[in-house]
Amino acid sequence: MDVVTIGETMALFTPNEEGMLRHAHSFSMKFGGAESNVAIGLSRLGHRSRWISRLGEDEFGDAMQSFIRGEGVDVSYVTRDQTAPTGVFFKEFRRLNDTRVYYYRKDSAASKMSAEWLQDDSVSDAEYLHITGITPGLSVSCREMLEKAISIAKGNGTKIVFDPNLRLKIWKDEEEARYFLKKYASESDIVLPGISEAEFLFGACSPEEYVEKFHALGIETVIMKLGKEGALVSSQSVPLTKIPGFPVERVVDPVGAGDAFAAGVLSGLLDGLPLDEAVLRGNAMGAMVTMVNGDAEGLPNRSDLASFINGGLDDVT
Ligand code: ATP
Repeated sequence: MDVVTIGETMALFTPNEEGMLRHAHSFSMKFGGAESNVAIGLSRLGHRSRWISRLGEDEFGDAMQSFIRGEGVDVSYVTRDQTAPTGVFFKEFRRLNDTRVYYYRKDSAASKMSAEWLQDDSVSDAEYLHITGITPGLSVSCREMLEKAISIAKGNGTKIVFDPNLRLKIWKDEEEARYFLKKYASESDIVLPGISEAEFLFGACSPEEYVEKFHALGIETVIMKLGKEGALVSSQSVPLTKIPGFPVERVVDPVGAGDAFAAGVLSGLLDGLPLDEAVLRGNAMGAMVTMVNGDAEGLPNRSDLASFINGGLDDVT
């Protein structure tokens, strides 16, 4: 297996009109999950990815499992829970520049993932283990499950990639979030923070100082996402370098860019590219996803990606 990722995916309901959620009458349903987005992004590029999760024995669980399986992701370690539901969340376009999110995920099936539940062989055959800072915020048992996944990875030479993915609503308070995000970052080989996450963890600094602070946690490779500016990369093999982003004429939906970026970087590393070129691939994937509505819809296949990186020169008419 190239990449194994573990996390919750929820049914996402987006109202078809703007205004307070209480007045919304019709919704579109999609799926929202950082880890499954990364697995789908990798699969579309021809890599072998596995998504590990727990779903309710319900309609949303059925739909999600079929959809993610249909993307070519290995879902053979996804289990179904008879007593806990698949998580659900709603978006609200309350007014201009005020988009809110409401989670119905407490005690969801995914929050019941635990160390006893995680099977050793679901992680041990992976080249990379991708985890995010969302999963440890779901429950204490999810934290224990991550500890086990990390220990299996370390015992099998699997590299650990951590995306902080700060979601303040799932934590008791900021202090708890900060503690666990730093803890999981420090246990990883590669971290993929954004600027706002770095600021949350370390206070106001320059991007270069943030990179140093992550290295000081013992992390070998730090890749900082800088939005449209691209990314900063620094590791033992590559001195601090800025890899410029790809120009995007019109951002349609920025959500999911970080997951696409992670998939792009991992894809590059799996293909044996040098780190800076892998980050360039991440930048291209992130940019492509901002141009399409939805988190996963804009994730490209190989030829789309090559065409985008080459400025559309490979376009087939
Ligand atoms: P997310 O909203 O998915 O959590 P993030 O905050 O983790 O995103 P971003 O920095 O927004 O991550 O985006 C990840 C990468 O996607 C960037 O490093 C960049 O390569 C690309 N990207 C994001 N926004 C743009 C943009 N407007 N133009 C070009 N590239 C972009």
